[in-house]
Amino acid sequence: MSYKIKIGIDEAWRWPWLGPVVACAFCFHPERRPNKAFLQELTDSKKLSEKKRETLYQELINMSVWENAQVLFGVWVVDNFVIDTINIRQANKEAMRRAIVELQRKLPPLTPLLTKEGKAISSAADGRVGLEVLIDGKDNYKFDELEKKPVFIIWGDAKVLEISAASIIAKVFRDKLILTYASLYPQLGLEGHKGYGTKKHQEQLQEKKDITGIHRLSYKPVKAVLEQKPKLLLHICCGPDATVPIMDLKQDYEVICFWYDPNIQPKKEYDKRLKAFKRVCEIEGVECIEGEYDVENFFKKIKGLEHTPEKGDKCTECYDMRLERTAYEAEKLGIHYWTSTLNTSPHKDLEKMFRLGDKHSMKKNLEFLKIAFRKNNGFLRSVEYTTKHNIYRQNYCGCVYSDTFPGNEKKWISPNKKTWAW
Ligand code: SF4
Repeated sequence: MSYKIKIGIDEAWRWPWLGPVVACAFCFHPERRPNKAFLQELTDSKKLSEKKRETLYQELINMSVWENAQVLFGVWVVDNFVIDTINIRQANKEAMRRAIVELQRKLPPLTPLLTKEGKAISSAADGRVGLEVLIDGKDNYKFDELEKKPVFIIWGDAKVLEISAASIIAKVFRDKLILTYASLYPQLGLEGHKGYGTKKHQEQLQEKKDITGIHRLSYKPVKAVLEQKPKLLLHICCGPDATVPIMDLKQDYEVICFWYDPNIQPKKEYDKRLKAFKRVCEIEGVECIEGEYDVENFFKKIKGLEHTPEKGDKCTECYDMRLERTAYEAEKLGIHYWTSTLNTSPHKDLEKMFRLGDKHSMKKNLEFLKIAFRKNNGFLRSVEYTTKHNIYRQNYCGCVYSDTFPGNEKKWISPNKKTWAW
């Protein structure tokens, strides 16, 4: 007797961002086939309800018991590490190849295929005779284990019974794996999205710690999270002093700049410096946030200290006000790391700045980076940068009490029509 065995193959879990790919190779026993009524129920697994799919899966398993097997199948999984190493297309091929090998082990010994005249058309010695392999899709794989190249059929799971059965087994097996993984990684919500790239899954992948051992690291959305740099909020005191910190910090952080400088007077000068800062952000391609110009509060903050020397008590209050507001912004935005470009200018007291940074960090569980941007020619690099890009560079610190504040008129009217004299 000669057999020609039709094998159907389908895969499950090819597109999700995690887990292994599962393949099933399926055939009916050449001498014992299930009854017609059962065969009529087999169709594309996607068209079946989960319950129906599970029932058919169980029946197919029962029919595969070795002594009286009516159906035979091989299932193989190729895990996410292999997927990341050889890519999903090759991993899928490997899962299918191993499923075929597994199925071949279960096939009864084959006799040679005979022509009508009784002539053998090929040898049965290696057990590969008479296999016709049909695969869902259009991958066009070739397998060394098969004499003949498989036939690829688009929507094959709805057209060929053997592929339908393979797709049911592969998908239910996958569903069972999902439940196992869901118990290991309850935070993933696998029961819902099954690892597919849904909005929910995307939202869950916010940080590196959200990536589990079953995620496919080579997949773009997962890779993007892995390569994501931590966010850092950088307080900006002026455009020139922002240049070096932005350039240096960009190497390791996603820098978000925060402009908060109510200490700058008059408003015209404030606007000029703000414009210079925005130009630097534009050149460096970093996000910027503009804080409020609450100049009235600035004057309240330094009240009584107006005529203390630069780097003295009024400046301490001035740094404190700006750093406190930046720490508040960092906390509001959920950004853990922060620092200030006040660390760039050689005219500022670095140690004082670091102490204040720590003070405001402690209250909010933040981390103030103590970097002396002025080191390693920081100031010189900033001068070169502003010259090259024609960025405005101021010639006094900021407030009307700065040592080198220009102008003879010793009074200034704020935007709210309040007058300050000095
Ligand atoms: S001199 Fe500069 S640092 Fe000191 S209070 Fe005025 S603006 Fe602030």
